[in-house]
Amino acid sequence: MKLKIKRSFKNKNYVLNETIISPSEISFYLYEPKYLFYEIKVNVGDLVLVGQVIAIKKNKNYTINVLSSVSGRVIFVDTLRTNPIIKIINDQEFMEYTTITPSFLPKTKDELVNIIQNFGIIGLGGGGFPTSIKINRSNVIKKLVINCVECEPYLISDKFLFTKELTKIFACFVLLKQILNIEKVIIAIKKTSSDLIKSIKTYLDNNLSYKDFICLYITKDFYPAGYEINLVNKISKLKLLTTDIPVDHDHLVINLSTAYAIYLATYEKKPLNYRYVLVSDMNKRQELYKVIIGTTYFELLKEFDLTNKLIISGGPMMGNRIDNLNHTTTILTSAVFVTKKIKSEENVCIKCATCIKNCPVKISPYHINKHAKYQNIKALEKENAYLCCGCGICSYVCPSSIDLTHNISLVKRRKVKTR
Ligand code: SF4
Ligand code: SF4
Repeated sequence: MKLKIKRSFKNKNYVLNETIISPSEISFYLYEPKYLFYEIKVNVGDLVLVGQVIAIKKNKNYTINVLSSVSGRVIFVDTLRTNPIIKIINDQEFMEYTTITPSFLPKTKDELVNIIQNFGIIGLGGGGFPTSIKINRSNVIKKLVINCVECEPYLISDKFLFTKELTKIFACFVLLKQILNIEKVIIAIKKTSSDLIKSIKTYLDNNLSYKDFICLYITKDFYPAGYEINLVNKISKLKLLTTDIPVDHDHLVINLSTAYAIYLATYEKKPLNYRYVLVSDMNKRQELYKVIIGTTYFELLKEFDLTNKLIISGGPMMGNRIDNLNHTTTILTSAVFVTKKIKSEENVCIKCATCIKNCPVKISPYHINKHAKYQNIKALEKENAYLCCGCGICSYVCPSSIDLTHNISLVKRRKVKTR
């Protein structure tokens, strides 16, 4: 079942704030439960440059480079805790680290993967999975799907970036097509993004040779229209299951901002050290800022009245609640919502099955929630609890205000810890 969200975002509602948010101190809170540990590559007093590796995230399957977003001096490194912190005084010079990668454009898959890995490029749609691993997983990639759907309400960061950097992003598509021998590049976008669709069509009309291999796939306006399995199934009339990985079926799906990060790394030898972040009160005020990665929420939101407000980082459906304003934006931050605290008491489940009917991955939030309470691992596995994509729909539709998504995410997190 598709969920029509009433607050469908109208593209023209936001205001671009020209101020670049680049505070004098930048912090990296290295927290992600799926990583076993971080290797810290800097010490207090070190001078670092934009794009320099300051830490490496490591789990048993892969590593991800964490790059500095600014140039300046490291003033604090806390490695004692499980989630280390690095703080850097931002000299506002943005001097770049130049030896990270060769100066020529990659020609082979190995060279491309190497650059993507060096620049720590990950899925910027929220998944955060290393793009190099995704690309390396299969020798045959027939279709490249660029996911620019941003199906959660209000989100605009990818669409804005695409409009702004259209030519560069197209250059990335062409490079990926050539190196990976891709037959078709499909740009998936929501039908409400009419201005951007028009710009893409005009660009293709002016570059007729691209039309042979680049096309648009326009989705309806529903949530989660951008869920990649559904997207691939719709585009190629496949029947992939939620357990399937599109790249194993010749489809490489990458987010629009990830494509831009690949452009920067390959053509300009630069890391993506900022994100366009929408700050929204989910009502009248929608401002889009260019924010240097590692900016505290305090800095980002200092012009907003936060009294009795709830702060959500990410989309309103899948975002995380921010309780500490000293925490910082990351490379995955594309939106922050400042909303009224709504007091909705959790009630008992009325067994209406609305959550089950609406789950896009066809698992049963009702049963999973029940088994999670009693930590019934076998039953949780039987219910495929770990397939949950965290879309937030079950919590959104539950008439008893049960935060099923949160309860299910705790189950998933526990499983990761016990691996
Ligand atoms: S959060 Fe998980 S369980 Fe809930 S609807 Fe989305 S995929 Fe289904
Ligand atoms: S939607 Fe809420 S009330 Fe209905 S079955 Fe699911 S958990 Fe129970």
